[in-house]
Amino acid sequence: SQVPLRVPITLPNGFTYEQPTGLFINGEFVASKQKKTFDVINPSNEEKITTVYKAMEDDVDTAVAAAKKAFETKWSIVEPEVRAKALFKLADLVEENKETLAAIESMDNGKSLFCARGDVALVSKYLRSCGGWADKIYGNVIDTGRDHFTYSMKEPLGVCGQIIPWNFPLLMWSWKIGPALATGNTVVLKPAETTPLSALFASQLCQEAGIPAGVVNILPGSGRVVGEKLSAHPDVKKIAFTGSTATGRHIMKVAADTVKKVTLELGGKSPNIVFADADINKAVENIAFGIFYNSGEVCCAGSRIYIQDTVYEEVLEKLKDYTESLKVGDPFNEEVFQGAQTSEKQLHKILEYVDVAKSEGARLVTGGVRHGNKGFFVKPTVFADVKEDMRIVKEEVFGPIVTVSKFSTVDDVIAMANDSQYGLAAGIHTNDINKAIDVSKRVKAGTVWVNTYNNFHQNVPFGGFGQSGIGREMGEAALSNYTQTKSVRIAIDRPVR
Ligand code: NAD
Repeated sequence: SQVPLRVPITLPNGFTYEQPTGLFINGEFVASKQKKTFDVINPSNEEKITTVYKAMEDDVDTAVAAAKKAFETKWSIVEPEVRAKALFKLADLVEENKETLAAIESMDNGKSLFCARGDVALVSKYLRSCGGWADKIYGNVIDTGRDHFTYSMKEPLGVCGQIIPWNFPLLMWSWKIGPALATGNTVVLKPAETTPLSALFASQLCQEAGIPAGVVNILPGSGRVVGEKLSAHPDVKKIAFTGSTATGRHIMKVAADTVKKVTLELGGKSPNIVFADADINKAVENIAFGIFYNSGEVCCAGSRIYIQDTVYEEVLEKLKDYTESLKVGDPFNEEVFQGAQTSEKQLHKILEYVDVAKSEGARLVTGGVRHGNKGFFVKPTVFADVKEDMRIVKEEVFGPIVTVSKFSTVDDVIAMANDSQYGLAAGIHTNDINKAIDVSKRVKAGTVWVNTYNNFHQNVPFGGFGQSGIGREMGEAALSNYTQTKSVRIAIDRPVR
C-alpha cells in the first residue's frame, strides 16, 4: 500500500510534527518510482517510527538530472550574494526549529537530547559560516610579464554526490551541503538507511530559505544501490563521503572510472594521552567525554587512553568512578548523558568486541554489558592493562568502549599513539606548554586537542591523516573540496610606440 508523503509523528517529548517521507527531488517530496519503502526504527524502544520511500537507481538518475539543470540554469550563475543570503536564512531556520530538529535526531539516532542539541547548534553556526564565505571566493591576478594578462578563478564542480552516516545525521548534512552550496554546486545527498528523518525534515527548510528547486536533493536508500550509483554516475562530478574506511576505499575505486573528485572522512582509533602533570580531575572528565560522548559513535572518539605510569592507578580509579556516574538511558530524559546505540547491528558489534577484548586478556574495569533489555543501550565500558597488538586497541569499535594503557616517557607514548593506520584526532592532557606543543607536532593526527576533547568549531578544519581520510571539512579548507581552479591567459598585442 502507498505510504503518504507526509505523516504526523508524535515525538517522545509529546510534540507533534509532520515528517516528510518521500524522496526530495527538484523541490518536491515524491514516492520512489518503484514504490519501494523501508521502516525507520527508534533505537531506544525498538519500535517503528514511520516508513519512508526508498530510492533506487532510476530515482538517482532523476535527481542527478534535476541537480544538473539547477546547477547550469540557476545556482552556479547567480550573484554569490544570493547564495550567501539563502545560507544565512537556512541557518536562521535551523535555529528557529532547533528543538524539533534535536528531538527528531534523538528519536531517530538514539543519541541523548544533550548531544542532539549540541549538533543542531553547530549546524546553524556552520551554515552561517558558509553563507559568510559564499561571496568571498577569490581567484588571483598573476604577474606573467607585460605580454599577457593572466588570472585564475575558482569555479564550482557541478553536481556533487554526498553520502553520509548515521552517527551525526543532521550535522553531516550541514558539513556536506554548506560548502557545496556556498561555492555554487548542487547536491544529491544520501542519508544513512537507519537515520533519514532529520535530513528530509531539514530539506523543507532549504526551500523556505529560498534555495531553488533542484539545488538540494535527498535520496534515502541503501549504500549498495544509491551510494554506488552516485559514485559511478558520469554526471556526478564529486563524491563526498563520511563513514567506514572499508566503504570509503570501495567508493574511491568505483569513482575512479569517471575520475571524480573524492573526499573521504573515515574511521579512527584516536589516542588520548594523560601526562602526570595534568590537572587530573579535568583530564578524567575530558577522557570520559572523549569516548562516551554521542554513545561512542564518533569517528574521532578518543578510544585509546594512555596514562603516565606515576598517575596510572589514580586516573584509572577516577575514570572508573566517573564512568559509573554517567547516566545512560532514555535520550529524552534531560539528565541522561548517553542514549542508545543507533541500531541492533551496532549493539551486537559492540558486544562482540567486549568478548574479543576479554578473550585477548584485557582487564574489564567497568561496563561490558547491555544496559536494560529494551533498546540498544550499552553500559560505558573501560578495559585496562591492554597490549598494543590486541584487536581491541587496533580496530575501531564505534561504541562506548575505551582501552587504557600505561606509558613512562614522551617518546614511548608518541610511538604508541602513532602506531595506527588511522590519524583522525589526538588528545593531550598536560599543564606543561612545551610538552603540549612538542607532542602536538609529533602526533600524526588531523586534529589535536589539548586539555579538551571532541571540541569542534565551525571555522576549524577537521579531517584525517593516513587512512582516516582525504580532505578537510569546515573552515576555509572545506571550500577547496568544492571548487576547481581555472587559469586564463590573455595575450596583449602591445601597440608599437
Ligand atoms: P558505512 O560506511 O558502510 O555507511 C556509511 C554510509 O555509506 C551510509 O550512508 C551507507 O549507506 C553508505 N554506503 C554503504 N555501502 C556503500 C557503497 N558500496 N557505496 C556507496 N555508499 C555506501 O558504515 P556502516 O556499515 O553503517 O557502519 C560500519 C562501521 O563504519 C561502524 O561500526 C563504524 O566503525 C564506521 N562508521 C564510521 C563513521 C564515521 O563518522 N567515520 C560513521 C559511521 C560508521
